[in-house]
Amino acid sequence: MSEGYNHKEIEARWQSTWHETGIYATDIRGARRPYYNLMMFPYPSAAGLHIGNLFAFVGADIHGRFMAMNGYDVFEPIGFDAFGIHSENYAIKQGINPRILTARNVERFRETQLKISGNRYDWSHEVDTTDPAYYRWSQWIFVKLFKAGLAERKRAAVNWCPSCKTVLANEQVIDGRCERCDTVVEQRELEQWFFKITNYADRLLDHLDHLDWSEVVKTAQRNWIGRTVNPEDGKVEYHLRDWLISRQRYWGAPIPIVYCDRCGTVPVPEDQLPVLLPDVEDWKPKGTGSSPLAAIPSFVNTTCPNCGGAARRETDVSDNFLDSAWYFLRYPSTQFDDRPFDAELTAKWLPVDMYIGGREHSVLHLMYTRFITMALHDLGYLPFDEPFKRFRAHGTITKDGAKISKSRGNVVNPDEYIETWGADTVRMYLMFMGPYTQGGDFSDRGISGVRRFLSRVWHLVVKHADHVYSGIAPVPYRRRLHQTIQSVTEDIRELGYNTAIAALMEYVSTIQQRDELYAEEVESLLLLLAPFAPHITEELWGRIGRPYSIHQQAWPVTDPALLIHETETIAIQIDGRARGTVELPTAAAEDEAVEAARQVEAVQRYLNGSAIQRVIYVPGRIINLITRG
Ligand SMILES: [Zn+2]
Ligand SMILES: [Zn+2]
Repeated sequence: MSEGYNHKEIEARWQSTWHETGIYATDIRGARRPYYNLMMFPYPSAAGLHIGNLFAFVGADIHGRFMAMNGYDVFEPIGFDAFGIHSENYAIKQGINPRILTARNVERFRETQLKISGNRYDWSHEVDTTDPAYYRWSQWIFVKLFKAGLAERKRAAVNWCPSCKTVLANEQVIDGRCERCDTVVEQRELEQWFFKITNYADRLLDHLDHLDWSEVVKTAQRNWIGRTVNPEDGKVEYHLRDWLISRQRYWGAPIPIVYCDRCGTVPVPEDQLPVLLPDVEDWKPKGTGSSPLAAIPSFVNTTCPNCGGAARRETDVSDNFLDSAWYFLRYPSTQFDDRPFDAELTAKWLPVDMYIGGREHSVLHLMYTRFITMALHDLGYLPFDEPFKRFRAHGTITKDGAKISKSRGNVVNPDEYIETWGADTVRMYLMFMGPYTQGGDFSDRGISGVRRFLSRVWHLVVKHADHVYSGIAPVPYRRRLHQTIQSVTEDIRELGYNTAIAALMEYVSTIQQRDELYAEEVESLLLLLAPFAPHITEELWGRIGRPYSIHQQAWPVTDPALLIHETETIAIQIDGRARGTVELPTAAAEDEAVEAARQVEAVQRYLNGSAIQRVIYVPGRIINLITRG
């Protein structure tokens, strides 16, 4: 009897070893094959990391691990989108200053949730949007856009959320309701700050044809931009409106503008940024149409940077979607205090190679990032004008068939599941529930099945650890292995994680029945499993005497000679009469056999366009195509 699979001990030990040895820290300057693997950074809410966040992050992490084992220098950073109404609404509910609450939430997300997930984050490049060292550059972007005529203050009918007591952008109103609190939004005539995203409407639309992005997102953006051409007078109209960027709230980056009676609207000089968000007692939204900052004379009253006379500061803060519209530019350059992003590092790492996130951000975050990237490109700051080479939308998960929500009481707390089952089991289960791009249903019964699979792998490898055969495995064994390598590789490449896991499970049941295992078999199995279950595979890799770390090994390569299927000749009949033969892979499926038979010229002639009503297929012997009812 081999020793049991103790996930707690194994996971804690390898997490600290990975941290100490820095295997996930990217050589940001020296990397030879840079690959920027981005996932949407979370709002550090008081409720903690949601199982949906974990689902999104693990899927992106598997992609990153796969690319790393394929020889890329993968950069996988994470951070916190910590300003904004979402965080502030929690603070109001809890009656705690958002500054204190946010710091606490970030700590909890990082230390007790993200770090135990097993993701290969490079923590040395963490971004927190509420850090003055970060929002200084959000303000810098505002100033740049203002100077370029892309930010303007104007009076307009705007969306007002009476519950959040602030205006909202059109993109933040979903079916007439506030995106954050679900309250019915009102229209108010107000003077507000706008970014002129409409200047970019045609470019935002036309580029979509060439972007390697999930279709669902491209369609949503096309519809949102909504370009229509009126044939009579040929007038072009758009659904897209300018991006309303000001908020009458406390928890955001102050808009870096000063009003002077003599000079008018003056941007804060770049060397005077950041305009610090003051620490105040009364930070709750007032509903007066002004931010709480308007009630703080020491903040409001300032001197004009232009003439030195008395002046007033803008008291609105910017939409936190501005913070998240450029965070991916910051990650590689977090060590710089004197520039938002370093030109050399930006050219090396960007645009982002792969971005994975939720489709609910199609016309919000994903549209704003494209606009900001285009604007910064046109101003000469970026050598590219699209931020993400590839974007893939992941699916959503339900619990026991129902939407996961607090009110239903079916919230899945990832910490508890990781504690009970281990991060490897939770990771694999999340990926096994259904196709990653569609999502699946989380159930406690399902997770125990995945745990049993990992225990099986554990016992299998531990049992054979001292006596795996070092010689070359017999051809049938190798053929089976290389077919598995082939299908797992193809599936992972397309984010088909559930089918990759199914192939691994099938493979394990096959080799489990045998008395002897060969080194190539055990090694390849662990390597293929490594992106999904990074801890157990690292442990077992050591136990079979292989050098640390499995995550720095090369992905197994298939031997094409072993992938040629054995074939057999079967007879084709049409309505019971022999009409030819076809060469098929052994045990081909019926639709495969029908498709192959249809390609035979004689069959096409005899069928002469008639529809096949029925098929009688005896694998290895005969396929009879019936055209008569
Ligand atoms: Zn609201
Ligand atoms: Zn002045």
